[in-house]
This record gives sequence, C-alpha cells and structure tokens, in this order.
Amino acid sequence: MSQTERWPIRGQPAAVNIMRGAVASGRVAHAYLFVGPRGVGKATAGNAFAAALLCEAADAAERPCGRCPTCADVAAGRHVDVYKLVPEEDKILIDQVRRLHQRAMLRAVRGRYKVFLVEAVDTATPAAQNALLKVLEDPPGDTVFILIAHNEAPLLPTVVSRCVTVRFGRLPKDVAAAILRERFGYGDAAELGAALGDGSIAQATRLSPEQLLERREAALAFFNDLLGADPTTVPKKAEAWHKRRDELVELLEILQTWLRDVLLCQHRPEAADQPGAWLVNFDRVHDLLAHARAMGPEEVMQALDHILSFHRRLSENVGVRPLVDVLLLDLAACGRRVVA
Ligand SMILES: [Zn+2]
Repeated sequence: MSQTERWPIRGQPAAVNIMRGAVASGRVAHAYLFVGPRGVGKATAGNAFAAALLCEAADAAERPCGRCPTCADVAAGRHVDVYKLVPEEDKILIDQVRRLHQRAMLRAVRGRYKVFLVEAVDTATPAAQNALLKVLEDPPGDTVFILIAHNEAPLLPTVVSRCVTVRFGRLPKDVAAAILRERFGYGDAAELGAALGDGSIAQATRLSPEQLLERREAALAFFNDLLGADPTTVPKKAEAWHKRRDELVELLEILQTWLRDVLLCQHRPEAADQPGAWLVNFDRVHDLLAHARAMGPEEVMQALDHILSFHRRLSENVGVRPLVDVLLLDLAACGRRVVA
C-alpha cells in the first residue's frame, strides 16, 4: 500500500507529517487538537491516526498498514480500544465526558493505546470542558485523545494548552476537485463543486452534481436574459428576485466562476485549447467563448465588480430590494445579448 493510501488525507501535508512523525518515532503526545474548517479531512485523519497508533505492523514507519486486523477494525469503527464521542443534541455534554473519563481509567484491551476521538469538541459546554480538562491534566499512560474542532475560540485555553495543535487548512481547488471526482462521483461537475466549496468538501457536496449543473443553467439563463436588455424592462425582472435572496446569492456564485472563465478565455488563448486544465466550466467552452466575444474584458471585470459589491453590501445589511434592482441594472449594461 502506498503512503497516500495508508494516510488518505489529501491536501494536508503538514498535518500528515505531524501524525506520521509521532507514530514512526513513538513520541506520541497524550492529546492532539485537530483544528480547521468543516469538510477538509479532520475526521478521516483522526481515524487514520487511531489506526496508526494501534496497527500491528512491526515497523512503526509502516503504520497504519491498512492490512492487519486492527487496521480493518478501526476502519470499520469496531475496535474496542477506540472510543468515539459525538455531540448529543448538538453539544458535548458533561455526562458524556464523565463516561469517557471512566473508560480512560481502564486499561487498553487489545492494543498499546486507548484512543479517544472527540468530534466537535468546540461544542462542549463549559462544564463538559472542565471535566475534560481534569482527564487531560492527569491522563492514564496508554491514553491518546484526539479532539476535533472547527474553531478553537470556544475552547478553554487550559484545554488547548494541554494538546498538540494540528492545523488543517482549506483544500486547494485541484485537490477538492479530485476528491469530488474520485470519492463522490461528481464527474464534469467536480471543478464547479470545488470552486463553490471554498476548499471544504462538506460545503462542496451541499449540492449534488445534477443540482450544480442545473443551477449553472439557471445562472446562464439569468445572465443571458439580462445582458444588453432594454433598461426599462429590468425593474420587472428584478422584482422576480426580491424575495429569493438565497437563490440569487447561489446563482451569483456560479456566475462568478463563469465570468472568471470568460476572462481567462479572453486573456489566455491556451485556456480554450486545454479547457480541462484552465477552466472551471471546461465542459461549456463554446458558450464561454461566445461570452468572451460578446463582452469586452472591461465589461467582464465590471460584471464581477458589480457582483462583489452586491455581496459586500448584502453582508452590511443593506435592504435587499434596492440592491437587487441596482445589480440587475448594472449587469444589463455590461454587454451585448448572447444568443446561445
Ligand atoms: Zn495495520
């Protein structure tokens, strides 16, 4: 098995190095805190680390081997020395931590360690965190805690300081797209999913591949309908969006990926020759080129600016209706109509 199969955590080399180094050297801390955005591989990493700590391979550098009964049991979630804690009613509660404490006091059954994986530890109540702190302050020798959090701000500094912090970043777009293609069957929609997912697989998979392609059609229909439209017809078009804010925001995000692709087509001739390497919407290169001809690069930049300023002002709690009216008028002025 290759290194990447044994540590199937893509796009997080620093985190993998910390775990591999600890396993290979045998210098394992009592507690690790995995911190980073949702959907970037923290839970996968926690499972791989647990398997590596318990794996039966003779050579520590080969752990996790992915082949021994221990690796199989950890992967299947049935290893007796791996104890998982997940929030109950959206929170980690003090009773859960008390049960964990009792388990921590017992000896490992099969392996050299007992591994406690605590998911969403940042949801732990203050009482639960204080209880957790007690365990972390005086951990039994064969115990390893892996605490997983999206955010360390809600954690007691005393809890954080007991842990080795392992940071997980947002995934690079190409890594996210590869994961969507290989593990989630996104096919041609993988690049678009990755572009909208902002480096998080959880965010990218909110929409199925079919939904993504459907919304893109809607975004293009919206844009084509507006481009070069008679300004007197725009207020009526805008009215249709006044009460569909979330839908419009999503559509604009897709439109942004489209407009960036149009810009690339205008500036880099190779983008059209090798669309798969350059473009998010590579499967629609003919339509991209139609827009690239119909709009000047300045107009594309203006359209992007209008969308960005719409997003910015929306986050400043400016009323939605006037913002939508202005945005649609601005976009309508950005180019000639494209007949696709
Ligand atoms: Zn193994």
